[in-house]
Amino acid sequence: MKKSDSNIKKAIKYLNNNECIAIPTETVYGLAGNAYSDKAVSRIYKLKKRPSNNPLIAHYYSLNELKKDCEIDKNFIRLYKKFCPGPISFVLKLKKTSKISKIITNNSNSIAVRFPSHPLSRQLLKKINYPLAAPSANISTSISPVSKQDVFDEFGSKLKFILDGGSSKIGLESTIINLIGKPYILRLGGINSRLIYKLINQLENKSKKKIKIKVPGISKLHYSPGIPVRLNAKKNFQNEAYILIKKRKKINKNYFYISKTSNLNEAAKNLYRTLRKIKKNGYKKIAIEKIPNINIGEAINDRILRASKK
Ligand code: AMP
Ligand code: MG
Repeated sequence: MKKSDSNIKKAIKYLNNNECIAIPTETVYGLAGNAYSDKAVSRIYKLKKRPSNNPLIAHYYSLNELKKDCEIDKNFIRLYKKFCPGPISFVLKLKKTSKISKIITNNSNSIAVRFPSHPLSRQLLKKINYPLAAPSANISTSISPVSKQDVFDEFGSKLKFILDGGSSKIGLESTIINLIGKPYILRLGGINSRLIYKLINQLENKSKKKIKIKVPGISKLHYSPGIPVRLNAKKNFQNEAYILIKKRKKINKNYFYISKTSNLNEAAKNLYRTLRKIKKNGYKKIAIEKIPNINIGEAINDRILRASKK
């Protein structure tokens, strides 16, 4: 048996016992538990220290499973066909017959759902007969983990099992779109918002009307490295870690490249890992070079803006 097969077996054993475990996804690692079980879901909130009014995303293998729990419409099908499995989450109406734990949704009749594309998370979801509630596998408000080691640094031995799937390819959370009523984007993320607008606008035939972006909690402390972050910095001050996306001629021990060629996908993938490294190295302040606000740069800017709020 392959090592990954035996690890998936182990993961399923924990999940079937209403335990929560960490799983790899292409966005970030998730803290996963049976989405139909109050017990498993309560454990996620407790371990993460997440306020109970902040709902979780449920992860599905395929449309067939999703349809048992959620109402879907034309916008959903369009986006699903184009982007799933992948880094996009949808807020949908729950069916009355849904078995989703009320704790996930904080008793509301809407739920955020996603189809992760990471091969291990797909294999796992295929083998179980329930969806997985899986918020990012970090203590509430801290930086999302993008590797097994990051998850371990968050929870230590309090977490029973981490399914190792290497480092997350995208490195930022999913884009969340609300599809109840008029569509709007709740959180920028792995899929560029313009691609989403384009598809929905075509369908609704309102090419001049943009769908709204509502990014809740923009001023809330979130994705926080726990030390001050200075944005759009043209240079760094003494002892300040400096995050850069294009190579400088000067060599400086405080420079941390998330890309050396202004490649925004690479920068997204390296951002959280670099913020953790800077913190581990004992820096007390971070400066970040200006990041172009295009493509996934939009999501990077959203996260570093939140990281810079006190
Ligand atoms: P994470 O902890 O990174 O998985 O983030 C999950 C995000 O999804 C949070 O920002 C939640 O507020 C959002 N979310 C989950 N469920 C819903 C819902 N039913 N309606 C609106 N937002 C939701
Ligand atoms: Mg999170």
